This record gives sequence, C-alpha cells and structure tokens, in this order.
Amino acid sequence: MKLVLASNNAKKLAELQALFTPLGIELVTQGSLGLPEAEEPFGTFVENALIKARHAARLSGLPALADDSGLSVDALGGAPGVRSARYALDAGGEKSDAANNERLLREMASIADRRARFVCALVAVRGAEDPEPLIAMGRWAGEILTAPSGAGGFGYDPLMHIPALGQTVASLGAEVKNRHSHRALAAAQLIGQLREVWRLG
Ligand code: IMP
Repeated sequence: MKLVLASNNAKKLAELQALFTPLGIELVTQGSLGLPEAEEPFGTFVENALIKARHAARLSGLPALADDSGLSVDALGGAPGVRSARYALDAGGEKSDAANNERLLREMASIADRRARFVCALVAVRGAEDPEPLIAMGRWAGEILTAPSGAGGFGYDPLMHIPALGQTVASLGAEVKNRHSHRALAAAQLIGQLREVWRLG
C-alpha cells in the first residue's frame, strides 16, 4: 500500500520506511509528488501531525502518514517542543541542526537539570476527511550533554545522551536507534492500529 509521507526530511523518511516496510507500506514524500508543505500552526505535536496528514491526503488523493516530533526539555518548560526544527530561526539564527544545537547549549548553559525527552506523534488518515485518524505517540527519555558527541542521526541526536544505552543517539547507529527511538515506539503502536483498523499486514 502506498502512503504519502507529509514530510520532506530524508532522515525521517529512511527511519519511517524501515519501520513500516514489514507491513507492506511504501512511503512517498509529498515533495516527490510536487506538493507543498502544510503550515504547522498548533502548540502540540498531535495537532500538527493531524493537520499535516490531512493536508497531504487532500492534495495527493492518497492515504497519508505524518510525523510531528521534537525535543522536550524539562527545565525549559518543554521547549524547543513543536518549535524544534525552527529553534534557532526563532531567535534570529538559521534553520539548521547545528544552529539549533548551539542555541540549546546556550539556553542550558547554567541549567543543572538536563532531563529531556524526544517526542513523536504519528498520524495516519485514509483520506483528508477521514473521521477516524489513527494516532500514536512515542517518548524517549535522555539527558542533554554540554557538548555534541557522535556523527549519526539528525537534529538533536548529538546532544541527547541515553543513560540506559550509555551513548548519545548520534553514536548509536541507525539500526539501534530504530529499535529504541520515540519514532519506533510510536510506529509500533501505529502498526497495531493499522493491522486492527485498516486490516493491513
Ligand atoms: P518537524 O519536522 O516539524 O516534526 O520537526 C522535527 C524536528 O525535531 C527536527 O528538525 C529535529 O530538530 C527534531 N527531531 C525530531 N526527531 C528527532 C530525532 O529523532 N532526533 C533528533 N532530533 C529530532
């Protein structure tokens, strides 16, 4: 079954494609179909994922999957949260992973409590007006380091240390990340719903 992915992030696509391949799902990005990205106006991951999924389904005429995800730092009241991708941009910087990580280190320079979570909302809709969207959430707890470490992954991975694994997410390798991540946890939940409600797999 073909699903439009409401994202153009190649790293997200690779992670999600690996997670959904066992269900016979082929993901195509909205960008590869020439579709524009949706606005993300809301304050929660789940609302933004829902509007992105509906937007992609409306413009493509296909079922759609959306991921809205980010980093939630306890001592920053949940920031960068839904603004994770634009964290540096919001402070007058550029939209890049490196600039986002630099801003995070600046904001946390004098903060001792380094606890944080990656959060992922995944939403699947059969069409733009689907009255029963499938919704799944995943969370992955860790601690923000004071300097980046590791070369893999994307986004805040080099700053996110997972105590249970003794490494940053950027040091884990794709296969290990895909077994433990917020996205993997959300995908496992969503796969259960896709089997039950959409009768896939
Ligand atoms: P979105 O594309 O609006 O959902 O923004 C996602 C942003 O959250 C990314 O640009 C990253 O900054 C961050 N993010 C989401 N998932 C991850 C992850 O698995 N590792 C590191 N950063 C992530």
